[in-house]
Amino acid sequence: MTESAFRCLACGDGHSVAVHKAVADYFLPTGIRVDYVRCAACGMVQQYPVPTDVGPFYAAYPVHARKSLLQEVTRRILLSPVYYDVASLRRDQLLLDYGCGDGWFLDRAKRRVSAAYGYEPTAMQASRVAERVGVQVFHDVAALRAPLAGRVDVITMHFVLEHLTDLSGTFALLADLLKPGGTLHAVIPNLDNVEYRGFGSRWHGFDAPRHICFPNADQLKPVLDPLGLRLASDRFVPFPNTLAASLSILFTGRYRLLPFLAFLPLAIVWARLYPRGTRALTFVKHEN
Ligand SMILES: [Zn+2]
Repeated sequence: MTESAFRCLACGDGHSVAVHKAVADYFLPTGIRVDYVRCAACGMVQQYPVPTDVGPFYAAYPVHARKSLLQEVTRRILLSPVYYDVASLRRDQLLLDYGCGDGWFLDRAKRRVSAAYGYEPTAMQASRVAERVGVQVFHDVAALRAPLAGRVDVITMHFVLEHLTDLSGTFALLADLLKPGGTLHAVIPNLDNVEYRGFGSRWHGFDAPRHICFPNADQLKPVLDPLGLRLASDRFVPFPNTLAASLSILFTGRYRLLPFLAFLPLAIVWARLYPRGTRALTFVKHEN
């Protein structure tokens, strides 16, 4: 593919500059290498070319696997400050967790709302989560529209946005599903940060090849403004896993569980003192 075929997933500009070439997969043994560029107009970093089939990136993706009790307890401690605050959900609300992973958040949120739904892009994962959590989990985006259009109060996307290959199409769908006044909550890795500047493409928040694009709130404006989605809050949240995994990659060449666990206490302290690697963006749907 030639450079002229580049098109920014956020602003649509056709010019880019190279950022990282042939970035290896430091998390899973896929052996896949991909390139990243920066949009010359808005500055967003994205994978180029944008993959047409991301299936091979997710073979044996542990985020989807069932967790041990120890992992469950650790997750609860580490993720609660990062994920949408379930205590703020109300009994009369309808929730969609878009990219619900193994259903951890849905399971915590489902009792606090009138109805909770999930979305995962593969039929197999969607049915696994539906069975485990006991809520409806969609895998076909078209199927979401009929029952949920204009009805959803809260959409959550925890570490999902960076995996998307079609920002405008996905957000157009999500904006259609939201009620006027509804909330879209996205948690994303933040490249404008000393950790990424230090580790470069070995920063675990980069997670090539699964992470496709790294927008910030400004770069999302051309996608979200026409849909009536306005930024309501943009804040840093403490997520220590990224630094602990990055240190494992630095010292052992890839992500490994034991070094990750050894570096985790240091990363927890760092993330509490200087939480810059992860952002939580909240948007509210306005009438156009
Ligand atoms: Zn751009």
